Amino acid sequence: MSFRINNAISKVVLGVFLAILGIIIVWLGVKIVSVEGDHSLDEKLAIVFGWGINETNDEIETEPFSVLNEPDNTDKKSNVQSMPELTPLTNAPTANCTANYGSLMLVNPNFVVEEDFIATRRNELISLNATYGIRELNAWNGDNLIDAEAGEHLNEMLTAYKADYPGQEMQTVSCYREVGTNCGRLCMPTGASDHHTGLACDLVDATYGTSLDTSTYEAHPDWQWLRENSYKYGFIDRFPEDWAGGPMSEPMNVDENGSTGLFETWHYRYVGVDFATDIATGKYNDGKYDSLEHYLKARGLVKDLKTGKCAEKDV
Ligand SMILES: [Zn+2]
Repeated sequence: MSFRINNAISKVVLGVFLAILGIIIVWLGVKIVSVEGDHSLDEKLAIVFGWGINETNDEIETEPFSVLNEPDNTDKKSNVQSMPELTPLTNAPTANCTANYGSLMLVNPNFVVEEDFIATRRNELISLNATYGIRELNAWNGDNLIDAEAGEHLNEMLTAYKADYPGQEMQTVSCYREVGTNCGRLCMPTGASDHHTGLACDLVDATYGTSLDTSTYEAHPDWQWLRENSYKYGFIDRFPEDWAGGPMSEPMNVDENGSTGLFETWHYRYVGVDFATDIATGKYNDGKYDSLEHYLKARGLVKDLKTGKCAEKDV
């Protein structure tokens, strides 16, 4: 008798246990399936149970992209995975790991591009002269070529300059540079020049002289105007003095902290208005003008500035 009762109770307890277990499994299944985005099972479980997720997540998703700037996070795989959906500049093949970073692509002696990349990129650019009547002082490339979006913003910027300085004109000295462009001390070796991106121009108002020399900065209101205003049009002072390690400290020498070893008051680079605002206002540099190199590292987009690596797995 007592055996039968115990047996019946055991069956009831077991039944209830299995029912609860079933409900939990179904609930978990529904939760995992409903997690949005491309995640592994481990990551989905972490999201469902809130492991390692902080409350600022919603806020981060509203940023242009959700790379965190804390030094502790720069090594984490998740930072690389949360890259913005930037459109690559080109499909031209290159081993440069920043090739998918769109307007944030980094080219310098440690992040080089191959000749095929440079040649393909040329065919994708527009002529500033033909499209906007912006003249080039030095026709090293036969014409002044630039990325279409950058060109549109450059035209707006130079129009704004003209409004502030009636009767004067900012001209391009040179924008895109192709393989083997020879311009003396102002040219980086083929493969290492920011000008290969089609996003950079050297600029000057001939009213103040056409010699590109940082020591004449005080006598160049044009360069001072660019430094103050260019970010509103998506352009940055690509080689600011604070990151140069001294005037005209050539050759370019990028260190692991983001110093470039270069100071050029005429070289401006398009990155887009949001990123340019971050960089010019020093969002990741204590309110002081940033270098593109330092900015990319601070946002976890570049891992090692000396060896040209973007992610932990590449180092
Ligand atoms: Zn330049």
